[in-house]
Amino acid sequence: MEKLQIDFKKIVEKLDSPVLAVDYDNQIVYANKSFCSMFNTNCEMIAGKNLYDFLPENKDTVVIKEYTYKITKYDDEYYSYYYLTVVDSQMEKIYSDFISTVSHELRTPLTSIRGFADTMLMSFDKLDKTQIQKFLTIIKEQSNRLIKLVENLLSISKIQVQHSNLVFKSVNAKSQIEQVADILKNQYPAHPFEIKCAADVPNILVDESKFQQIMINLMDNAAKYSYEKGVVTIEISNANKENFVSIKVKDHGVGIEPENLGRIFEKFTRIENHLTRKTQGSGLGLYIVKDLIEKMGGQIFVESSTELPNSGSVFEILLPVASYTSQSKKKLEDR
Ligand code: ADP
Repeated sequence: MEKLQIDFKKIVEKLDSPVLAVDYDNQIVYANKSFCSMFNTNCEMIAGKNLYDFLPENKDTVVIKEYTYKITKYDDEYYSYYYLTVVDSQMEKIYSDFISTVSHELRTPLTSIRGFADTMLMSFDKLDKTQIQKFLTIIKEQSNRLIKLVENLLSISKIQVQHSNLVFKSVNAKSQIEQVADILKNQYPAHPFEIKCAADVPNILVDESKFQQIMINLMDNAAKYSYEKGVVTIEISNANKENFVSIKVKDHGVGIEPENLGRIFEKFTRIENHLTRKTQGSGLGLYIVKDLIEKMGGQIFVESSTELPNSGSVFEILLPVASYTSQSKKKLEDR
C-alpha cells in the first residue's frame, strides 16, 4: 500500500484514462477519479469491492455508457493494474448513426418513388390527368429529397477530408434566396415564404451554390419544424458588425429547448420534438450549414424558445460583403 500511494497514485490521479489497482484476490485497493466518475461513484466507496463488480471477467474490452474500452492489465510484485482506453468509439458511433440515417433516408423516398411509378404503370389507363399530375409531383419531391441528401453527404465527406473547393464571387443574396423560396414553395405549399430586404444591402462574397445549400437547409427546417400555414420570414439587412450582411430566417414553429441549442449543430443529431417524428431528416443540415458559413468567413447564431406553442426560432447568419479587400478574399480561399 505504501508503495502504491507514493508512486502509482501520484502518477495516475490526474490521468484522463480510468485506472484501477487490485490486490492478489482482485479486491480493489485504488481507483482514480476518472474511473470513479465513469461509474458515477465515490472513490472511497470503490475501495474493497471486487474487480468483477466493475469489469467483466476474461474479456479485454468493456462497453460503458455507449463507449467501448480496451482493458489493459499490468502486474507488479504487489498489485495488478487495469487501465481503460477508448477504442475509437466516436468513429463507431458516427459510423452506426451514419448507416441507420442513410439507409432510412434513402429507403423512404425510394420506396415512395417506386410505389407511385408502379401504380402509374399498372393503372395508367384508369388514372385521370389530376391523379397523374399528383403522382408525378410526389415523385419529383421525393427525388429532390434524395438530391438534398446526396448533396449533404457529399459535403460531409468533403468536410472530413478537409477539402472544400469553394469558389468565391459577389452574389446578390436576395435573388438567390428568391430562387430557393421558389424551390421550397412546391414542397411546402401551405407555408408562405416572405422575403424582406433592406434598401442598401451590398452583395456578399460567397460560393454561390454553397450559399444556396445553406439557405435550402435553413429555410427547409423553418418550414419543416413549423405548424401548418406557419409563415417563414427571411430578413436581409446590414449587420451590426461592419462589412457583414445579416440574413435572418424566422419561423413560428416548435422551437428548441435552451439545453439543446448547443447540440443542433452536431453531426447526425436530431432533437426530439413532436414534429421530428413526423418529419424526415438526417441531422446533417445544420452541421454542414455551420461548417460552410465558417469556411466563408461568416458566423451563425440561433435564438429559440419553446415557451409558447409557436414561439419559433431565428437563425441569423452573417456573411462578408463583397467589397471585402482582395486580401481578405485570398485569405478565405486559402481556408
Ligand atoms: P434534420 O432537420 O435533418 O433533423 P438539422 O441538422 O437540419 O437536421 O437539424 C438538427 C435538429 O435541430 C433537428 O432535428 C431539429 O430538432 C432542430 N431544428 C433545426 N432547425 C429547427 C427549427 N427551425 N425549429 C425547430 N427545431 C429545429
